[in-house]
Amino acid sequence: MATLAQTTSNATQYMDLEDKYGAHNYHPLPVVLDRGEGVYVWDVDGKRYYDFLSAYSAVNQGHCHPVITRALVDQASKLALTSRAFHNSSLGPYEKFICEFFGYDRILPMNTGAEGVETAIKICRKWAYEKKGVAENRAKIIVCEHNFHGRTTTIVSFSTDPDSKGHFGPYGGGFITIPYNDLNALAGALADPDVAGFLIEPMQGEAGVVVPDDGYLKGAFELCRKANALFIADEIQTGIARTGRMLACDHEEFKPDMLILGKALSGGIYPVSAVLASDEVMLCIKPGQHGSTYGGNPLAASVAVAALSVVRDEKLAENAQRLGEVFRREMNRIIAAHPIVKLVRGKGLLNAIVINDSPESKTAWNMCLAFAQNGLLAKPTHGNIIRFAPPLVITEEQLMECVHIIENTIQAFSSHS
Ligand code: PLP
Repeated sequence: MATLAQTTSNATQYMDLEDKYGAHNYHPLPVVLDRGEGVYVWDVDGKRYYDFLSAYSAVNQGHCHPVITRALVDQASKLALTSRAFHNSSLGPYEKFICEFFGYDRILPMNTGAEGVETAIKICRKWAYEKKGVAENRAKIIVCEHNFHGRTTTIVSFSTDPDSKGHFGPYGGGFITIPYNDLNALAGALADPDVAGFLIEPMQGEAGVVVPDDGYLKGAFELCRKANALFIADEIQTGIARTGRMLACDHEEFKPDMLILGKALSGGIYPVSAVLASDEVMLCIKPGQHGSTYGGNPLAASVAVAALSVVRDEKLAENAQRLGEVFRREMNRIIAAHPIVKLVRGKGLLNAIVINDSPESKTAWNMCLAFAQNGLLAKPTHGNIIRFAPPLVITEEQLMECVHIIENTIQAFSSHS
């Protein structure tokens, strides 16, 4: 295509440095970003883009939100890190705030999403041995095919993606894999009395924004309840207003036994993650049994309170719900005219289009290069799927401008193919 993003020598010098000195564990688009504000990012040559990835939904509140940035700067100038060897004056207020915000008894604060998932797995196993009465070393956690829960060795052990998993063995055990969106498979797996919990993404983000059938999550929750197994929702990507409700599970009106949050818990300003649970579950962990040097530090605590306050005060869930409908309606209109795109799916402002080409083809990648050229950043996942997840502070006017960029780009592709 003639619409590949043009890369300047200024940008090239930064890309060359990453190429020469960095591990090659990512394959970024050839865009070098330097500044962000709200829904926009600017590259090193001053070109402005709409950010339609939002750092994989970490920047729900928009880039460099002034309220969150201020909380970070104020706290960093006062006290950043004490370790948990001592109490600090930010942690308790944050713990109270987040527990009341989401309706849980307790939080265990961590840093990255993967650490949050690891933490939930540990708590779930401990609960199984100490409360459910599972025999030592026999606890199992049910997971779904095509899951994405992070990159640690335990987590990749139960990945079904060859890129995530291959040559990272020997793998840890204790997981049962079932198809996503299949209540019969879940019921069958829960018949094993050693099952401690069911770990699930309410929508599979990395798998390509896969939305389960209505009623599946609530049905799964009820099956877990009957089997005395914990329903563990990984809402690291779907949570904090992204899908049009504060949590994706809120669409089906139930409260997971354990909730894992990350990403937008800091609005992209700092790595903050959390596991929330009841007294019965959380108090299985005793001093010395889990932790992290940075988990619950004053900076993280202050940033998280600000990040959640912004989501609530600016009604970002409502905005995501309303504009998500507009976006899918517009995408369906475009798709009707351009069969190069097969379908759009998603909830709120977590959506994806599926390109009518094989995952091995370069069509989606080339389309993302063309989107970039036209001022919108998005990235393919699994070859032929393009995720669209703008910051939730986007206005309808901005969204419609993005719809036009997407439409014009697809139009150009259709006329070339
Ligand atoms: N869980 C889900 C659902 C995710 O989408 C991600 C990241 O994309 C993670 C866990 C891992 O989070 P992190 O990259 O912060 O470790």
